[in-house]
Amino acid sequence: MKITDVRTAVVAGNFPWVLVRVETDEGICGLGEAYWGAGVNELVHRAKPIIVGESPFNVSKLCEMMIRCLSGEGSTGGATVTAISGIELALWDLVGRALNTPISTLFGGRLRESIRIYADCHAGESHDPASYAERAREVMSAGFTAIKFDLDNPNPFTQDISLDPHPRRAWYEPFNRTIGAAEMRWMVSVAEAIRSAVGDDVMLALDCHWKYAVPDAIRLARALEPYNLLWLEDPVPPENIDAQKKVSEATTTPICTGENLYRKHGYRELIEKQAVEIVSPDIPKMGGLLEAKKVADHADTYYMPLAPHNVASPIGTVAAAHVCAAMTNFLVMEYHAHDVPWWDDLVDGEPVIENGFIHLNDRPGHGLTLNEDVARQHLVSGTSFFGESPSA
Ligand code: MG
Repeated sequence: MKITDVRTAVVAGNFPWVLVRVETDEGICGLGEAYWGAGVNELVHRAKPIIVGESPFNVSKLCEMMIRCLSGEGSTGGATVTAISGIELALWDLVGRALNTPISTLFGGRLRESIRIYADCHAGESHDPASYAERAREVMSAGFTAIKFDLDNPNPFTQDISLDPHPRRAWYEPFNRTIGAAEMRWMVSVAEAIRSAVGDDVMLALDCHWKYAVPDAIRLARALEPYNLLWLEDPVPPENIDAQKKVSEATTTPICTGENLYRKHGYRELIEKQAVEIVSPDIPKMGGLLEAKKVADHADTYYMPLAPHNVASPIGTVAAAHVCAAMTNFLVMEYHAHDVPWWDDLVDGEPVIENGFIHLNDRPGHGLTLNEDVARQHLVSGTSFFGESPSA
């Protein structure tokens, strides 16, 4: 079997979902997805001539060839690795279909049949902690057992302080990374409101999007200790692993990071220094299923759980779920599209997530069939549907 073509379709979800189709001379195709980002779609097409004519079964070899041949485009990280990830996911789907076996079997089989999903929540425009509690109850009623909120946004104190009627009460401005007394009270009140709304048994994570300085992050993490968080995500900027470690060691609140790292090398120092408690790779962004499994296994030698970041359509999400099933240290995976009512409609058949879990089946590959009508309806305007001429 030989690869004959690589085609893409970019669907306008809450992010542009870059769907990647790898085709062969035997008519078997694989469908993958790359994380969104400027240039990703173009880079998929740049990678195509490297793998056309090759056997799709040699996934490692093909990825290594793409990484090495695209080194000029910057293939140690960033959009190039993300484009390769989309092709890699499509290749595993293709291999699974060719061998009539689910992707999970190709990674050692399943430690679990159901993959726990956490819902990333937004509390709307209001800064009132009660609106966070209300949103939490609403998401829980859809069956989720794990949720995450942004603690930094919307935050009245991250806005231009000149607009604040009491500007001096807020210490925060976008550059100094500080948390003032008023901001701290607001953050703790949000955590308190959500925890009281959902009860003690729900997994609750909070995300800070790399905003704060080390001492402020430590004060925040300690102040949140009574709310028994599953994790506090990215309280400090991601680049300095020693700073991450300092925060992690100063609090009983578990610290999580990893959505900005690429390939196994990108996670090496974080894992070997045990600089956080939980690692959160974005699988269709950081290198793909096999690279994520390598990171998971490395983290597992330090008994660190893995909680993949994920903003993908059902294609990238379920492909990632198959490798999560084969990771000893899998904890929970993100679902970021609670506000996209047609997320499930992008693929045929039963709902992808039921009661907060993806229940894997035994269909070959990732087991999903794209609903082409829905994909066409939401195609990014002016772009091509897997190589067809763009409609006006
Ligand atoms: Mg995050």
